Amino acid sequence: MRTLVFATNNKHKLHEVREMLDGVVEIKSLDEMGLAGDIPETADTLQGNALLKAQWVWQRTHLDCFADDTGLEVNALGGAPGIYSARYAGPQCNFDDNVDKLLSTMEGKTDRRADFRTVICLLEGGEPTYFEGRVDGVILTERYGQEGFGYDPVFMPDRFAVSFAEMPLEVKNQISHRGLAVAKLVAYLKGEKSKTK
Ligand code: IMP
Repeated sequence: MRTLVFATNNKHKLHEVREMLDGVVEIKSLDEMGLAGDIPETADTLQGNALLKAQWVWQRTHLDCFADDTGLEVNALGGAPGIYSARYAGPQCNFDDNVDKLLSTMEGKTDRRADFRTVICLLEGGEPTYFEGRVDGVILTERYGQEGFGYDPVFMPDRFAVSFAEMPLEVKNQISHRGLAVAKLVAYLKGEKSKTK
């Protein structure tokens, strides 16, 4: 089976993506490749950051690899936190700090529409191909559920009456931003496999 390096050490993301790529490609994380260090995320778009992260791996391994970058885009905040979603509450913040800041910033706001957008950059021989996924929903007024990570407890996707953190992973993967982007990656990888047969 083909191996791809996934430019992440986020164990939640790794688990989500491994579930979806099971039987299609073998995924190696940065830790498993012995890669350590800060990956730059200095671009001003999700696509730019996904490319930077994937290139960081490519420059060190010359192995085919991919990276994802995700942003939570809140209508009432003009699309913030967007590319700053990981660092919304400050450089050293954790998921809880970010959710606290989002809940307090959204207090009293009637427009609670938001979306999650993921861009995946796959590098094959150093050449990029992009896959995008998006899910629309609303920001809840308090946390619900224990599953998932990040902003999951306060994001309720359209057509559902529960937050991402109240869903089993299989359900989240079917409808989420990253799930949809990975599904496009899987389709591409499967198509490519049959072309080379
Ligand atoms: P990243 O740059 O792709 O790691 O994502 C930036 C930030 O968005 C993360 O630190 C999380 O706070 C948030 N995030 C990414 N994916 C998800 C998700 O599936 N659910 C909730 N929050 C997420």
